[in-house]
Amino acid sequence: MEEKRKAYLTEVVPPFTPLTAMEEASRCLLCHDAPCSAGCPAGTDPGKFIRSIRFRNVKGAVETIRENNILGATCARVCPYGRTCEEACSRTGIDVPIQIGRLQRFATDFEQALGMKVLEAPEASLEKVAVIGGGPAGLAAAARLAMKGYQVTIFEKNEKAGGVLTYGIVPGRLPQEIVDWEVKYVKDLGVEFVYNCCVGKDITWAELKNQGFKAFFLAMGLQQSKPIDIPGMDLENADYALDFLAGAKPSEGKLAVGEHVVVVGGGDVAMDCATTAKMLGNRVTVVYRRRQMDMPAYPPEVAYVQSLGVDFITETLPVEVLGENGKVTALKARGKDGVSEFVLKADRVVMAIGQEVDETGYAEGLKVNDKQLAVVDEATCATSVEGVYAAGDVVNGGKTVVQAVAEGKAAADGIDAWLASKR
Ligand SMILES: Cc1cc2nc3c(=O)[nH]c(=O)nc-3n(C[C@H](O)[C@H](O)[C@H](O)COP(=O)(O)OP(=O)(O)OC[C@H]3O[C@@H](n4cnc5c(N)ncnc54)[C@H](O)[C@@H]3O)c2cc1C
Ligand code: SF4
Repeated sequence: MEEKRKAYLTEVVPPFTPLTAMEEASRCLLCHDAPCSAGCPAGTDPGKFIRSIRFRNVKGAVETIRENNILGATCARVCPYGRTCEEACSRTGIDVPIQIGRLQRFATDFEQALGMKVLEAPEASLEKVAVIGGGPAGLAAAARLAMKGYQVTIFEKNEKAGGVLTYGIVPGRLPQEIVDWEVKYVKDLGVEFVYNCCVGKDITWAELKNQGFKAFFLAMGLQQSKPIDIPGMDLENADYALDFLAGAKPSEGKLAVGEHVVVVGGGDVAMDCATTAKMLGNRVTVVYRRRQMDMPAYPPEVAYVQSLGVDFITETLPVEVLGENGKVTALKARGKDGVSEFVLKADRVVMAIGQEVDETGYAEGLKVNDKQLAVVDEATCATSVEGVYAAGDVVNGGKTVVQAVAEGKAAADGIDAWLASKR
């Protein structure tokens, strides 16, 4: 078990050495209008930082990354590069794209190893801003506001910041040490953190206003699993994905997952559940309602999960979680044709069928759409309530870390412009 836990906590993709990083950077064509640069939602210019690495100016590379992305080391590990900057890389026309993500990781690993400090916030003399939620969107907005001189406090309902980075994404892809380091980065810019404080429950909006906050940023993400209406979900070991993952990563893998786990779903979250279950347990089966080619999960992640030996049953729907003595014993499932029905033995079933917003932190009168997501002005991220801004998953319905970072930055600019107009 100790061996399994160690493997679960170990980063899967090895880092570049200085030599292999230089070799990879040397493959870059130094394109004039580098298409990779337009491919990063957070606005990082890979062409520029790769050029710096190539000419052995790693500090310059770190500056390019950090000025754009306070979660540069996290994004270096979790971004779907094949769908963003690497997809745009001109080198693809010759052989394979430059490994931009691994080069970004090389630069930020270097920064961490040397304890470099490339960002310094001015004295916090401007208005107080409250950020509700310490995930990627909240951290990115808080850092940008601190860099502009605002007094920023993040209210986080959990005991740690990071949101999905801390409580969701598997350590093999994103070690907790990296998340903690980047949260500290934000703290070192002067941002205050109030933990175990759920806005709307532990503190009211009126209390926040009484504390002198002049603007508010909602970055609450999608922290609630979508319920599934089948019998048996009240059994012990019938879990929802976010609860299952939150039991594994923060405990550093000290979770008895069971001998046979069935994961229902075909998205990235389902793949993270399958990885966790496989690495900490034994047999894992993914049950998905459509064909494998229809899975919304990032294809390299699906391939990785399959390489671990996880079985896939496609075009199949869950019907009932079966149990004995209050505990899960099997999943009853039915083929999409509606005819074939079978029972899959399991001692744990994990439902990874989507997340939705927990509205506890919403301001009164906030305009929402039919999915209960906050409605905002696209350019400024302003909501229908004056002085309240929103971005990240709570607005876009669940995209990526880098998208949440990009939107958090845009919201910080929106807040800055609004507060400046009132001065
Ligand atoms: C399991 C999983 C794996 C993923 N893997 C990847 C990946 O590999 N790559 C990728 O790019 N994206 C991935 N994503 C998506 C990505 O993590 C999200 O898009 C991103 O985290 C959204 O950031 P956010 O700040 O909007 O929300 P979150 O990360 O959800 O953060 C919201 C924060 O707000 C806090 N909060 C909520 N309500 C309150 C309240 N009332 N008061 C105080 N605090 C509150 C929460 O505790 C949380 O810390 C994954 C998502 C999941 C669920
Ligand atoms: S598109 Fe590819 S080859 Fe061109 S600058 Fe960017 S990383 Fe280098």
